[in-house]
Amino acid sequence: MIIIMEPEASETQIQNVINHIHDLGIKTVVNRGVVQTVIAAIGETAKYSTEHFETLDGVRKVERIQVPFKLASRDSHHDDTVVVINNNVKFGGDNAPVIIAGPCSVENEETLLAIAKVAKECGAKMLRGGAFKPRTGPRTFEGLGKLGLEFLDIARKETGLAVVTEVMDARDLDLVCEFTDMLQVGARNMQNFTLLNEVGGVNKPVLLKRGLSATIDEWLLAAERIMDKGNSQIIMCERGIRTFDNKYTRNTADIAAIPVVKHLSHLPVIFDPSHAAGKWNLVTPLAKAAVVAGANGLIIEIHPEPEKALSDGPQTLNFDNFKKLCKDLNKLTSVSLHTKK
Ligand code: PEP
Ligand code: MN
Repeated sequence: MIIIMEPEASETQIQNVINHIHDLGIKTVVNRGVVQTVIAAIGETAKYSTEHFETLDGVRKVERIQVPFKLASRDSHHDDTVVVINNNVKFGGDNAPVIIAGPCSVENEETLLAIAKVAKECGAKMLRGGAFKPRTGPRTFEGLGKLGLEFLDIARKETGLAVVTEVMDARDLDLVCEFTDMLQVGARNMQNFTLLNEVGGVNKPVLLKRGLSATIDEWLLAAERIMDKGNSQIIMCERGIRTFDNKYTRNTADIAAIPVVKHLSHLPVIFDPSHAAGKWNLVTPLAKAAVVAGANGLIIEIHPEPEKALSDGPQTLNFDNFKKLCKDLNKLTSVSLHTKK
């Protein structure tokens, strides 16, 4: 960490800052320039915020050199992490982008099975479906709960597809773990620190969605928290963020976040064009853009009759459009546009 003093800082103020840093057990290297003094703090600075030092008298600015998400950072783990689900689905590294598809909510066994079969036919490797749904309004469909998990289990056995579903509450963690191959932490829970701590303690891969208004640092710090508790099987999922403009899209698809996170971190990054777009006709172009930008996978909402879906119908692809997208994606990935770091 670098502490830049004000040009007019007195010798006493400079010495006080140095003493304060030493009292924390951190070493210093002091560079007295013609105009300003710069103090490099060397040691366990990650525990302290930049504001901690900025409040000291005579300090102009404090800058971190190292990122605060050490475990998630590429600095600590140079090679790409490959997250493997059930010994056969591989996210990250040089593996081709993995397609995850399914309904926003698990609605009933028959529809889920129909969806799972189409997903499999089209080359998807995982089935997604929400049994516990985070809904903005209280009187909307909030998922089938345990019954939904049981339907997912049936679909998994019928098709062999691995399953991912959201866990909203730490109290449901054991139950959800029993029925799923990967846990989804949704955008609204990206900073539910209790839940992050708990998923950090289980041996299940985690799909970590970016919060609605989360910065990339905050998102990586959420991953860091899970890793800090012992679980390093994390897949980052960009799903669009809130910006000033939501007239034509539900969220703003931050495609740049894909190469940015892949540069900062060794963790795989996938993209959710459905929530980013909010409209089914934008899903295909965004999915393609994400793959070209280096996404290690896509998570896409599909339904036989999107207009009748119990949640997120407007952003859901019907079977024909999903099939067409998968064909196009095959063409894209076969020319190997996949970019590293
Ligand atoms: C979902 O996957 O259906 C969902 C609610 O996503 P997000 O948390 O990204 O809004
Ligand atoms: Mn949804």
